[in-house]
Formats: sequence, C-alpha cells, structure tokens
Amino acid sequence: MIYLDHNSTTPVHPEVLEAMMPYFGTEWGNPSSTYRFGAKLKGVIETARAEVAKLIGAQSREILFTSCATESNNTAIHAAITTTDKRHIITSMVEHSSVLNYCRALEGRGYRVTYLPVDPEGLLILTDLDNAITDQTAVVSLMWANNETGVLFPVNEIAKVCRSRGVLFHCDAVQAVGKVDIDVRTTEVDYLSLTGHKLHAPKGIGALYVRRKAPFKPLIYGGHQERMLRGGTENVPLIVGLGKAAEMARKHLADFNTQVRPMRDALEHSILTSVPNTELNGHVSQRLTNTTNITFRGIESESLLILLDHYSICASSGSACLADSEDPSHVINAMKPYASRHAVRFSLGTDITKHNVDTVVRAVKEAIEKLSI
Ligand code: PLP
Repeated sequence: MIYLDHNSTTPVHPEVLEAMMPYFGTEWGNPSSTYRFGAKLKGVIETARAEVAKLIGAQSREILFTSCATESNNTAIHAAITTTDKRHIITSMVEHSSVLNYCRALEGRGYRVTYLPVDPEGLLILTDLDNAITDQTAVVSLMWANNETGVLFPVNEIAKVCRSRGVLFHCDAVQAVGKVDIDVRTTEVDYLSLTGHKLHAPKGIGALYVRRKAPFKPLIYGGHQERMLRGGTENVPLIVGLGKAAEMARKHLADFNTQVRPMRDALEHSILTSVPNTELNGHVSQRLTNTTNITFRGIESESLLILLDHYSICASSGSACLADSEDPSHVINAMKPYASRHAVRFSLGTDITKHNVDTVVRAVKEAIEKLSI
C-alpha cells in the first residue's frame, strides 16, 4: 500500500503505542480517585498536557483535553458565543464540517453567520474579514491550514485584525500542528483546536487551547475533570498518546518539512507535466509542504480514486468526514466550481520514497488513460 492520505488520518507511531500500553493494561485506575493507584495518573495527564502546550507555545493550564477536534471546534465557538450577547459569527466557506455545520445549526438558533469567500487559489482576502466585522461579532473562526488543499490562511494578520477590533479568534489548527511552527505567544489566537490522529496519535483524542482570560463556558458539563471545564473521566491512554505524539512532532517538525516537501514537489511536478488537462488547486507556495490537490479535467475524481485503490494507492477527493456524501468538495467549489468533481488530494507522510512517487505517477497515468477511453 502507498498511503497518500495523511490529512485524513495518520498511523499511530510505534513509540506512541508503546507509551500508551501501560495505561491500557496495568495502570487502569481513575485519575479522580483519592487512593494512589488512581490519583498518580493525574501526574501522567499533566506531563502530556505540558507536551501539548510546549508544541504550540502555550502554558499547560491553557490546554484542555477533548475527545476530538470536532469537539474542540464546537467547544471554542460555544464558549465564545455563550459568554456575550453578540450574535454574529464569521467563518469561511472552506472550513471543516465541524465548524461549518455547527455554524449552520447556530443560524437555526437565530445567530447570523458570515461565510467569507476565498479566491481561486484558496486564499482569504483580509479586507473581507475586516469589512465583515461589526459591533455584533462575537467570534471569528478560521482555520490555519486547509485540509483539502493545504492552503495556509494568514493567521498572524487575522489575529491582529481580531485583536484590534475586539473580537475573539478561534483557529482550527488541526492540519497545521506538527507541520507548521505554531507559537500562540506571538500569534494571538484566543482558542486553537488540534487532534491526535493527524499527528500519529490515535483517533478520539483532541485538545483545545484556551488563552488565559479568554471567556469560557463548558460544552460538556459533568464532574470536576479538566478543572470543571470539560466533564468526563479522562481517557488516560489516549491523553498519554497525544502527549508523546506532541513531543515527537515538536522534535521532528523541521525534518518533517525537509523530508516531505521534495517528495510532494516531485509528485506534483510529474503529474502536472506528464498528465494532460491537470492543474494545481491551491496557492503554489502558501501551502503545507505535504499536500497537493490536483484537478484532472474531464475525469470524475471518484473514478480515479477507485482505480488508484486497485493499485493499492490511498488518496482522496476531499475531507474523509464527508467521503460518503454525493456532494462535490465544498472547498474546491468555493475556489473554482468547475473543478469540484475532478479534484484529488494527495497528502504525504515522511514514509514516502522517490520509488513510491514514481509508482504513483505511473499508476495515475495508466488510470487516466483507461478513464479517457
Ligand atoms: N478540522 C480539520 C481541518 C480537520 O481536517 C479535521 C479532521 O479531518 C477536523 C477538524 C476534525 O477532527 P476530528 O476527526 O478529531 O474530529
């Protein structure tokens, strides 16, 4: 198998698995217990929290563990809107469904939502954001890196605009964490979401950064866990896994980019130059180093993906969360509607070799020839 779908999910790293194993086995206590067998796990959770904090330049107490980034995104927007009377939210047309569908649900509850457009290269126009903010705007929710195209939003500038206009800023940084240097001390987001399974930790564990003094109300009420900010017995093994993955991501951030970029560039260049009727979707440089999204004009992306699967090549046409939907990619649709049914995303990990790239290019060419008959 050649796996080119790392923006969808990543394999659990063996060191992450090893770090988690004791907490599936002998160390199965409840961290809220008063006796040591359980209570000692509090320290284990705090070690993981410190690692997640370090990865993004935060303080430990600003990190909240959640069950996934979908929960983190919902929690951040919920926190921002339930602590004010303002009823306007700004997001973009290319956000992940965990932001878009929550915003749509809020429209049903009387909130006004502005969905900012992007240009044909997937870039956000900052003046659109500035113009959309009103004295009723409670929160701006914009992603750091797009999951389908890898396009990076100008998060620093967005944060400055929000700060200067007195509006809270939530950033879905799921695809950026571990691939881009993130420091919340210099990029002044109020809330930032991340998830384990894009970072070689398991699925089902996420985190939310909440800037100290940013307004907060829980989405999940329950016990005293997470300083009463998120109820529910802590998922100790997965929290340990996220902590280990965060530590590894911090140490290997530079290597990730230097290893993956030449492979991504080789794949992209070979396809664009040797397969007719192809074009890149997304800005050529303002983009994650591991992602390339390509339009194959005249070819249905789903047909191409099925043929690639026969070669044991895993790629996708958009977000895995919407893969069972008949709808075309809302991200490509917002950039260039003519391409939305013809786009394929290849998202690479560090395991990819030049030999793999050559195999994929050959398979893509053969598949396109078959589909063009
Ligand atoms: N935000 C983005 C940009 C994503 O790519 C994803 C996952 O695909 C999510 C949020 C949701 O993450 P999770 O699967 O942890 O809920």
